[in-house]
Amino acid sequence: MTAAGSPPESATPIHIDTSKASIARVYDAFLGGKDNYEVDRQVFEGVKQAAPEAADLAWDNREFLIRTIRFLASQTNVRQFLDCGSGLPTAENTHQVAQRLNPEARVVYVDNDPVVLAHGRALLEENEQTHFSPADIFEPRNVLEDPVVNAHLDFSEPIALLQVGTLHHYVGDRDPGEIMREYVEALPSGSFVVLSHFYDPEDDGYYSELARRMDDRFTHSPMGSGKFRTEKQIRGMFPGLEFVDPGLVLCCDWWPDGPRFKKQPEVSNCIVGAVGRKP
Ligand code: SAM
Repeated sequence: MTAAGSPPESATPIHIDTSKASIARVYDAFLGGKDNYEVDRQVFEGVKQAAPEAADLAWDNREFLIRTIRFLASQTNVRQFLDCGSGLPTAENTHQVAQRLNPEARVVYVDNDPVVLAHGRALLEENEQTHFSPADIFEPRNVLEDPVVNAHLDFSEPIALLQVGTLHHYVGDRDPGEIMREYVEALPSGSFVVLSHFYDPEDDGYYSELARRMDDRFTHSPMGSGKFRTEKQIRGMFPGLEFVDPGLVLCCDWWPDGPRFKKQPEVSNCIVGAVGRKP
Protein backbone atom coordinates (compact mmCIF):
# COMPACT_ATOMS: atom_id res chain seq x y z
CA MET A 1 0.00 0.00 0.00
CA THR A 2 2.85 2.41 0.72
CA ALA A 3 4.10 4.17 -2.38
CA ALA A 4 7.70 3.42 -3.35
CA GLY A 5 10.11 5.58 -1.37
CA SER A 6 7.55 6.63 1.28
CA PRO A 7 7.97 5.93 4.95
CA PRO A 8 6.37 2.78 6.39
CA GLU A 9 2.94 3.47 7.92
CA SER A 10 4.03 2.22 11.34
CA ALA A 11 4.80 -1.36 12.12
CA THR A 12 3.70 -1.05 15.76
CA PRO A 13 2.08 -4.29 16.98
CA ILE A 14 -1.68 -4.01 17.53
CA HIS A 15 -2.87 -4.23 21.13
CA ILE A 16 -6.60 -3.99 21.77
CA ASP A 17 -7.79 -3.30 25.30
CA THR A 18 -11.31 -4.72 25.45
CA SER A 19 -11.77 -3.71 29.09
CA LYS A 20 -11.98 0.01 28.19
CA ALA A 21 -14.49 1.63 25.90
CA SER A 22 -12.98 3.26 22.82
CA ILE A 23 -14.42 6.29 21.02
CA ALA A 24 -14.16 4.57 17.64
CA ARG A 25 -15.89 1.37 18.80
CA VAL A 26 -18.62 3.24 20.69
CA TYR A 27 -19.31 5.28 17.54
CA ASP A 28 -19.44 2.01 15.59
CA ALA A 29 -22.05 0.72 18.09
CA PHE A 30 -24.12 3.90 17.58
CA LEU A 31 -24.03 3.30 13.81
CA GLY A 32 -25.14 -0.32 14.21
CA GLY A 33 -21.72 -1.78 13.29
CA LYS A 34 -20.20 -5.06 14.49
CA ASP A 35 -16.73 -3.87 15.55
CA ASN A 36 -17.52 -3.19 19.19
CA TYR A 37 -17.40 -4.95 22.55
CA GLU A 38 -19.72 -5.17 25.55
CA VAL A 39 -17.96 -2.23 27.26
CA ASP A 40 -18.60 -0.07 24.18
CA ARG A 41 -22.26 -1.09 23.93
CA GLN A 42 -22.70 -0.16 27.61
CA VAL A 43 -21.81 3.43 26.74
CA PHE A 44 -24.35 3.42 23.91
CA GLU A 45 -27.05 1.97 26.19
CA GLY A 46 -26.26 4.58 28.88
CA VAL A 47 -26.65 7.48 26.45
CA LYS A 48 -29.87 5.95 25.12
CA GLN A 49 -31.30 6.17 28.63
CA ALA A 50 -30.81 9.94 28.41
CA ALA A 51 -31.90 10.17 24.77
CA PRO A 52 -33.63 7.14 23.25
CA GLU A 53 -32.92 8.33 19.69
CA ALA A 54 -29.19 8.74 20.38
CA ALA A 55 -28.18 6.60 17.36
CA ASP A 56 -29.56 9.36 15.11
CA LEU A 57 -26.97 11.75 16.51
CA ALA A 58 -24.27 9.55 14.98
CA TRP A 59 -26.15 9.15 11.70
CA ASP A 60 -26.71 12.90 11.34
CA ASN A 61 -22.97 13.31 11.78
CA ARG A 62 -22.01 10.57 9.33
CA GLU A 63 -24.42 11.75 6.64
CA PHE A 64 -23.14 15.32 7.04
CA LEU A 65 -19.61 14.00 6.46
CA ILE A 66 -20.63 12.19 3.26
CA ARG A 67 -22.47 15.24 1.84
CA THR A 68 -19.56 17.57 2.57
CA ILE A 69 -17.06 15.24 0.86
CA ARG A 70 -19.36 14.98 -2.14
CA PHE A 71 -19.53 18.78 -2.30
CA LEU A 72 -15.76 19.24 -1.97
CA ALA A 73 -14.83 16.52 -4.46
CA SER A 74 -17.30 17.64 -7.11
CA GLN A 75 -17.55 21.41 -6.72
CA THR A 76 -14.17 22.66 -5.56
CA ASN A 77 -10.61 22.21 -6.80
CA VAL A 78 -9.58 20.36 -3.65
CA ARG A 79 -7.93 17.02 -4.44
CA GLN A 80 -6.40 16.25 -1.04
CA PHE A 81 -8.21 15.20 2.11
CA LEU A 82 -6.76 15.01 5.62
CA ASP A 83 -9.37 13.14 7.63
CA CYS A 84 -8.56 13.58 11.34
CA GLY A 85 -10.27 10.94 13.47
CA SER A 86 -11.53 8.85 10.59
CA GLY A 87 -13.30 6.22 12.69
CA LEU A 88 -13.79 2.56 11.83
CA PRO A 89 -14.45 1.85 8.17
CA THR A 90 -18.16 1.82 7.45
CA ALA A 91 -20.19 2.37 4.30
CA GLU A 92 -19.15 5.44 2.29
CA ASN A 93 -15.79 6.26 3.77
CA THR A 94 -14.13 9.55 2.82
CA HIS A 95 -11.81 8.01 0.20
CA GLN A 96 -14.66 6.08 -1.43
CA VAL A 97 -16.87 9.15 -1.78
CA ALA A 98 -14.03 11.42 -2.92
CA GLN A 99 -12.38 8.96 -5.32
CA ARG A 100 -15.68 7.97 -6.90
CA LEU A 101 -16.14 11.60 -7.95
CA ASN A 102 -12.49 12.29 -8.59
CA PRO A 103 -10.26 9.24 -9.05
CA GLU A 104 -7.22 11.49 -8.51
CA ALA A 105 -8.22 12.42 -4.95
CA ARG A 106 -5.67 11.61 -2.27
CA VAL A 107 -6.73 10.86 1.30
CA VAL A 108 -4.74 10.52 4.51
CA TYR A 109 -6.65 9.19 7.48
CA VAL A 110 -5.37 9.94 10.98
CA ASP A 111 -6.66 7.92 13.91
CA ASN A 112 -4.92 6.57 17.00
CA ASP A 113 -7.32 3.71 17.71
CA PRO A 114 -5.57 0.37 17.05
CA VAL A 115 -8.74 -1.27 15.71
CA VAL A 116 -9.26 1.58 13.24
CA LEU A 117 -5.67 1.27 12.05
CA ALA A 118 -5.87 -2.50 11.60
CA HIS A 119 -9.16 -2.37 9.67
CA GLY A 120 -8.16 0.69 7.69
CA ARG A 121 -4.89 -0.78 6.53
CA ALA A 122 -6.57 -4.02 5.47
CA LEU A 123 -9.23 -2.09 3.56
CA LEU A 124 -6.66 0.05 1.80
CA GLU A 125 -4.13 -2.57 0.80
CA GLU A 126 -4.91 -2.05 -2.87
CA ASN A 127 -5.36 1.72 -2.77
CA GLU A 128 -2.19 3.70 -3.53
CA GLN A 129 -3.89 7.04 -3.01
CA THR A 130 -5.16 6.49 0.52
CA HIS A 131 -2.99 6.14 3.60
CA PHE A 132 -3.17 5.95 7.37
CA SER A 133 -1.26 7.64 10.17
CA PRO A 134 -1.67 6.95 13.92
CA ALA A 135 -0.85 10.55 15.01
CA ASP A 136 -2.69 12.38 17.81
CA ILE A 137 -5.23 14.69 16.12
CA PHE A 138 -5.39 17.02 19.13
CA GLU A 139 -1.67 17.76 18.73
CA PRO A 140 -1.60 19.59 15.38
CA ARG A 141 2.23 19.54 15.20
CA ASN A 142 2.16 15.73 15.40
CA VAL A 143 -0.14 15.60 12.41
CA LEU A 144 1.45 18.40 10.39
CA GLU A 145 4.95 16.97 10.81
CA ASP A 146 3.86 13.36 10.40
CA PRO A 147 5.89 11.52 7.74
CA VAL A 148 2.87 9.77 6.19
CA VAL A 149 0.93 13.04 5.97
CA ASN A 150 3.87 14.80 4.37
CA ALA A 151 4.68 11.97 1.98
CA HIS A 152 1.19 12.01 0.49
CA LEU A 153 -0.20 15.53 0.88
CA ASP A 154 1.24 18.68 -0.69
CA PHE A 155 0.80 21.67 1.62
CA SER A 156 1.33 24.11 -1.25
CA GLU A 157 -2.00 22.99 -2.77
CA PRO A 158 -5.47 23.30 -1.18
CA ILE A 159 -6.34 20.62 1.34
CA ALA A 160 -9.65 19.68 2.95
CA LEU A 161 -9.05 19.12 6.65
CA LEU A 162 -11.74 17.14 8.43
CA GLN A 163 -12.46 17.19 12.16
CA VAL A 164 -15.85 15.51 11.98
CA GLY A 165 -17.22 14.26 15.28
CA THR A 166 -13.82 14.56 16.97
CA LEU A 167 -13.32 17.74 18.99
CA HIS A 168 -16.16 16.98 21.40
CA HIS A 169 -13.89 14.14 22.58
CA TYR A 170 -11.05 16.50 23.42
CA VAL A 171 -10.69 16.66 27.20
CA GLY A 172 -7.39 18.53 27.53
CA ASP A 173 -6.84 22.05 28.82
CA ARG A 174 -6.49 23.87 25.51
CA ASP A 175 -9.28 25.82 23.83
CA PRO A 176 -10.29 23.63 20.83
CA GLY A 177 -10.37 26.88 18.81
CA GLU A 178 -6.62 27.22 19.41
CA ILE A 179 -6.03 23.67 18.25
CA MET A 180 -7.91 24.48 15.04
CA ARG A 181 -5.98 27.75 14.61
CA GLU A 182 -2.72 25.78 14.46
CA TYR A 183 -4.16 23.58 11.72
CA VAL A 184 -5.65 26.48 9.76
CA GLU A 185 -2.37 28.45 9.83
CA ALA A 186 -0.63 25.51 8.14
CA LEU A 187 -3.18 25.23 5.32
CA PRO A 188 -2.71 27.11 2.05
CA SER A 189 -5.28 29.61 0.78
CA GLY A 190 -8.27 27.91 -0.87
CA SER A 191 -8.25 25.06 1.66
CA PHE A 192 -11.37 23.92 3.48
CA VAL A 193 -12.18 22.77 7.01
CA VAL A 194 -15.10 20.42 7.65
CA LEU A 195 -16.08 20.21 11.30
CA SER A 196 -19.02 18.87 13.28
CA HIS A 197 -19.55 19.00 17.02
CA PHE A 198 -22.06 18.08 19.74
CA TYR A 199 -24.13 21.20 20.37
CA ASP A 200 -25.76 22.76 23.39
CA PRO A 201 -28.46 25.10 21.99
CA GLU A 202 -28.53 27.04 25.31
CA ASP A 203 -32.27 27.53 24.95
CA ASP A 204 -32.85 26.77 28.62
CA GLY A 205 -35.53 24.52 27.36
CA TYR A 206 -36.00 21.01 26.15
CA TYR A 207 -33.07 20.64 23.72
CA SER A 208 -30.53 22.21 26.02
CA GLU A 209 -31.65 19.86 28.76
CA LEU A 210 -31.34 16.93 26.34
CA ALA A 211 -27.80 18.02 25.40
CA ARG A 212 -26.79 18.31 29.05
CA ARG A 213 -28.19 14.88 29.88
CA MET A 214 -26.23 13.30 27.03
CA ASP A 215 -23.08 15.24 27.99
CA ASP A 216 -23.37 13.87 31.51
CA ARG A 217 -23.84 10.28 30.26
CA PHE A 218 -20.87 10.44 27.89
CA THR A 219 -18.59 12.15 30.40
CA HIS A 220 -19.38 9.70 33.19
CA SER A 221 -19.23 6.62 30.98
CA PRO A 222 -16.23 4.28 30.59
CA MET A 223 -15.44 6.28 27.42
CA GLY A 224 -15.20 9.50 29.43
CA SER A 225 -15.77 12.16 26.74
CA GLY A 226 -18.55 13.84 24.78
CA LYS A 227 -18.77 17.58 25.36
CA PHE A 228 -21.77 19.55 24.09
CA ARG A 229 -20.42 23.03 23.36
CA THR A 230 -22.20 26.31 22.59
CA GLU A 231 -22.53 28.03 19.22
CA LYS A 232 -19.93 30.64 20.23
CA GLN A 233 -17.44 27.95 21.24
CA ILE A 234 -17.98 26.01 18.03
CA ARG A 235 -17.74 29.11 15.79
CA GLY A 236 -14.35 29.71 17.43
CA MET A 237 -13.15 26.44 15.84
CA PHE A 238 -13.22 28.09 12.36
CA PRO A 239 -10.60 30.83 12.93
CA GLY A 240 -10.23 33.18 9.94
CA LEU A 241 -12.42 30.99 7.72
CA GLU A 242 -15.37 32.00 5.54
CA PHE A 243 -18.38 29.77 5.98
CA VAL A 244 -19.73 28.03 2.90
CA ASP A 245 -23.52 28.40 2.72
CA PRO A 246 -25.55 27.70 4.79
CA GLY A 247 -22.92 28.31 7.51
CA LEU A 248 -22.91 26.63 10.90
CA VAL A 249 -26.20 24.73 11.12
CA LEU A 250 -27.64 21.50 12.48
CA CYS A 251 -25.88 18.69 10.60
CA CYS A 252 -29.22 17.49 9.22
CA ASP A 253 -29.80 20.97 7.71
CA TRP A 254 -26.49 21.18 5.82
CA TRP A 255 -27.75 20.67 2.24
CA PRO A 256 -30.00 17.68 3.02
CA ASP A 257 -30.38 15.15 0.23
CA GLY A 258 -34.02 15.88 -0.53
CA PRO A 259 -37.38 16.88 0.90
CA ARG A 260 -37.99 15.84 4.47
CA PHE A 261 -41.26 14.00 4.94
CA LYS A 262 -40.42 12.54 8.34
CA LYS A 263 -39.94 14.65 11.46
CA GLN A 264 -36.27 14.94 12.49
CA PRO A 265 -35.53 13.16 15.77
CA GLU A 266 -35.09 15.43 18.81
CA VAL A 267 -31.37 14.66 19.09
CA SER A 268 -30.84 16.27 15.67
CA ASN A 269 -30.99 19.59 17.52
CA CYS A 270 -27.84 18.67 19.40
CA ILE A 271 -25.21 18.34 16.66
CA VAL A 272 -24.01 21.06 14.29
CA GLY A 273 -21.52 21.28 11.47
CA ALA A 274 -20.10 23.60 8.86
CA VAL A 275 -17.62 23.88 6.03
CA GLY A 276 -15.19 26.81 6.23
CA ARG A 277 -12.89 28.08 3.45
CA LYS A 278 -9.53 29.73 4.00
CA PRO A 279 -9.49 32.94 1.92
N1 SAM B 1 -14.87 11.25 11.64
C1 SAM B 1 -15.65 10.03 11.67
C2 SAM B 1 -17.10 10.35 11.45
O1 SAM B 1 -17.48 11.49 11.75
O2 SAM B 1 -17.86 9.51 10.99
C3 SAM B 1 -15.44 9.27 12.97
C4 SAM B 1 -15.77 10.03 14.23
S1 SAM B 1 -15.48 9.09 15.70
C5 SAM B 1 -16.75 9.69 16.72
C6 SAM B 1 -14.04 9.89 16.38
C7 SAM B 1 -12.73 9.25 15.95
O3 SAM B 1 -11.65 10.07 16.43
C8 SAM B 1 -12.50 7.86 16.52
O4 SAM B 1 -12.23 6.96 15.49
C9 SAM B 1 -11.32 8.00 17.46
O5 SAM B 1 -10.48 6.86 17.50
C10 SAM B 1 -10.61 9.20 16.87
N2 SAM B 1 -9.82 9.92 17.88
C11 SAM B 1 -10.24 10.38 19.09
N3 SAM B 1 -9.23 10.99 19.74
C12 SAM B 1 -8.15 10.91 18.92
C13 SAM B 1 -6.81 11.37 19.03
N4 SAM B 1 -6.39 12.05 20.10
N5 SAM B 1 -5.97 11.14 17.99
C14 SAM B 1 -6.39 10.44 16.90
N6 SAM B 1 -7.66 9.99 16.74
C15 SAM B 1 -8.52 10.22 17.73
